Amino acid sequence: AQLDTLDLVVLVALLVGSVAYFTKGSYWAVPKDPYASSASTLNGAAKSGKTRDIVEKMDETSKNCVIFYGSQTGTAEDYASRLAKEGSQRFGLKTMVADIEDYDYENLDKFPDDKVAFFVLATYGEGEPTDNAVEFYQFFTGEDVAFESGASADDKPLSSLKYVTFGLGNNTYEHYNAMVRQVDTALTKLGAQRIGTAGEGDDGAGTMEEDFLAWKEPMWAALSDAMNLQEREAVYEAVFSVVEDDEKSPEEESVYLGEPTASHREGRAKGPFSAHNPYIAPVVESSELFTVKDRNCLHMEISIAGSNLSYQTGDHIAIWPTNAGAEVDRFLQVFGIEEKRHSVINVKGIDVTAKVPIPTPTTYDAAVRYYMEVCAPVSRQFVSTLAAFAPDEESKSEIVRLGNDKDYFHEKITNQCFTISQALQSITSKPFTAVPFSLLIEGLNKLQPRYYSISSSSLVQKDKISITAVVESVRLPGASHIVKGVTTNYLLALKQKQNGDPSPDPHGLTYSINGPRNKYDGIHVPVHVRHSNFKLPSDPSKPIIMVGPGTGVAPFRGFIQERAALAAKGEKVGTTLLFFGCRKSNEDFIYKDEFKTFQDQMGDSLKIITAFSREGSEKVYVQHRLKENAELVSELLKQKANFYVCGDAANMAREVNLVLGHIIAQQRGLPAEKGEEMVKHMRSSGSYQEDVW
Ligand code: FAD
Repeated sequence: AQLDTLDLVVLVALLVGSVAYFTKGSYWAVPKDPYASSASTLNGAAKSGKTRDIVEKMDETSKNCVIFYGSQTGTAEDYASRLAKEGSQRFGLKTMVADIEDYDYENLDKFPDDKVAFFVLATYGEGEPTDNAVEFYQFFTGEDVAFESGASADDKPLSSLKYVTFGLGNNTYEHYNAMVRQVDTALTKLGAQRIGTAGEGDDGAGTMEEDFLAWKEPMWAALSDAMNLQEREAVYEAVFSVVEDDEKSPEEESVYLGEPTASHREGRAKGPFSAHNPYIAPVVESSELFTVKDRNCLHMEISIAGSNLSYQTGDHIAIWPTNAGAEVDRFLQVFGIEEKRHSVINVKGIDVTAKVPIPTPTTYDAAVRYYMEVCAPVSRQFVSTLAAFAPDEESKSEIVRLGNDKDYFHEKITNQCFTISQALQSITSKPFTAVPFSLLIEGLNKLQPRYYSISSSSLVQKDKISITAVVESVRLPGASHIVKGVTTNYLLALKQKQNGDPSPDPHGLTYSINGPRNKYDGIHVPVHVRHSNFKLPSDPSKPIIMVGPGTGVAPFRGFIQERAALAAKGEKVGTTLLFFGCRKSNEDFIYKDEFKTFQDQMGDSLKIITAFSREGSEKVYVQHRLKENAELVSELLKQKANFYVCGDAANMAREVNLVLGHIIAQQRGLPAEKGEEMVKHMRSSGSYQEDVW
C-alpha cells in the first residue's frame, strides 16, 4: 500500500515518539538518594563499600542463582523473594535476591554458565521501567550496549548467561508488560539463553498471582533440566532469624517503634526528604467533599513549608500509612503473639545476602502496625506455606486443599476478600502459634506508601499540597465483609480527629494517630513527593482538554487553579475544557463551588461539561459527553490542545482513548484506524497524557 501524507505524519511521529520514549527515563528517574544507603544500613545491609559486581558477589557468597527485581509497589520484589525461597528449598539452588539498581550490568558478559540470573520486572505506567530499573533498562535497550570487556552486540556477548524472566504488567495499559518483553528481546539478541518462557502476569485481568503460579512450574522443570537440579521435598528454612530480646525495653531509643528511618527514630530527621526518607508533614486542613453519609471523599492540605520539598503542578504525593489497630490486633491474635506484642525483636538475615525489609530492633506491634502489609489480598502460595504450622490436622488438611485447588481457594478466600488473618480465622479459631515470624516477614510485603495526584497548583500554593482521596470502603460482590482501604481510612481517621469528630475512629478501626513515640501528634503524616510527566503546557495560552471523572479530577483542580491564577494576573489563558463525571450533582460533584469561583476568574476560557451517571434514566459517563462534543474537541485539537485523562485505568481511560480516536476519524473524514493512530501519535509526542491508576 502506498503511504499517504497522514501515514508519513504518523510514522515520523512514532519515530520521534520512540526517541522520546527511550530517553524518558532520564527525565523522571529518581535521583540517587543520599539517604538510600543509610536507610538500608538500618535494615542491616549497608550498601556502602559493597561490591556492585554481581559475579564477584555471587562468588564471594557461593551463590549460583541471583534473582533481580525491578519493583515499584513491592509485588515484583515479593515474587523475587518467593522464587528465591522456592529455588533454595525445592531445588537446592544457592539463591540471592537483588535490587536491580544495586549492581552493574557492564560485566554480565562474564556471568558464568553454571549459574542463572532471574529478572522479575514490573512495567510501570506507560510501558516504563520501575524507578529502580531505569538504568538497567537503558543499558540493555539503548543504542549501544557497552560491556566492560569491550565486546560488541554482534559478538553475542551474553552467550554464557542463562536467564529466567517474569514480567508484571497490566493489560489496561497500552504497553502491556513492555519491560519484560523488551528486556527479553534485548537479552536474547545478545546471545543469552532464556530458560522457560518469558512469563507475563496481568494485574488488569486480576490474574497476576495465578499467571505467576502457572508460569513457574514449567519454568522450574526447564531450569532443572538446564542445570541438572534434583527436586526435593521442600522444607521451610527461615530467611531471617527473629530473636526476642527480653532485656530490652521497647522504650529504649534504639528500638524502632514505627519510625521510617534511624534519623526519625533519633528525632533528628532532616532532608533531603525522599522515597527513602519521608517528611513528617503537618496536615493543616482537612474536609469532606461528598454530601452523602455513606461515602467519603477527603480534601487535605499538607504543608511542606520548611521541608525543602518542592512540587510542580501535576506531581504525585505519597502517603505512608499506618495499619488500623483493629487489624493489627486481629493479626497478632491469629498468630498468638498478642500477649508479647511489645517485646523487642531483633531481625537478622541468616544469609549475608538477605536484606531485612523492616527496621530492627523493633517490636511485633510496630512491625505489624507500621512496616508490614497485613491487610492486602492473600496469595494461594503463601497460604499453603502455612500448612506445616497449622494448629491441628483438620486445619492443616484444609490449608493443603486451599493450596492445591485453585477454584476452591477462589471461592473460600479470594472471593471473600480475606486478608491473611481473616483467611486463617475462617479456617479455625485456634491461633497459629507455630508460624515463625520470619515466615510472615518473608511472605508479606512491606507496607507501601500510596500515591495521590496532587490537586493543587505549585504556582498558587508552593508550600501546601492538596490531595483529593476517595475513601475505599467497598463490599465486593460475594464477600461477606466490607474491605477498608488501608491509607484512605487512616486519612479519614486523621480528618475526623482534626475536625474534633466525637468518634475519631471510623468504623472502630482504632488507628494510632499520634504515631510512634507520639511523633505524629498534632495531625502529621509521613509523605514524599514523586515527580511526574503529567504537565500543563508551558504556554498557558494553549488550549487543554481534561477528562477526569470522580477523583480523576484531582490534578485538574490543580491545573484549573493555576490557570485561574494566571488569568487573574491578566495573562492570556487558552480554552480550558474539563469533562467531569460523578453519580449525582448534589452528592459527589466535588469542588463544585470552587469551580464557580474559578469560572469568575477565567470567564469563557473555562468550560466544564458534566456527566451524572445516576440522574437520568440512562447512565451518562464522561466518554458520552466527549462524543457529544466531538466538534469542539476536534476544533481544540486542531488548535494544538493537549489532551489529559486521569482516574480509572481499567475502563474509563481505555474508553476515552477509543472515543477520541473515533472523534478524530469522524471529524476529519478518516478511516477509524487512522483516528487510533493519531491518538497513538499524540501519546508519543506528549500531547495525550494519562495519569491513571
Ligand atoms: P488499599 O488498602 O490499597 O486497597 C485498595 C483496593 O484493593 C481496595 O479498594 C480493594 O478493592 C482492594 N483490596 C484491598 N484489600 C483487599 C483484600 N483483602 N481482598 C481483596 N481486595 C482487597 N486515589 C485517589 O483517591 N485520589 C487520587 O488523586 C489518586 N491518585 C493516584 C495517582 C497514582 C499515580 C496512583 C498510582 C494512584 C492514585 N490513587 C488515587 C489511588 C491511591 O494510590 C490508592 O490506591 C487508593 O487511595 C487506595 O488506597 P488504600 O490504601 O486506601 O487502599
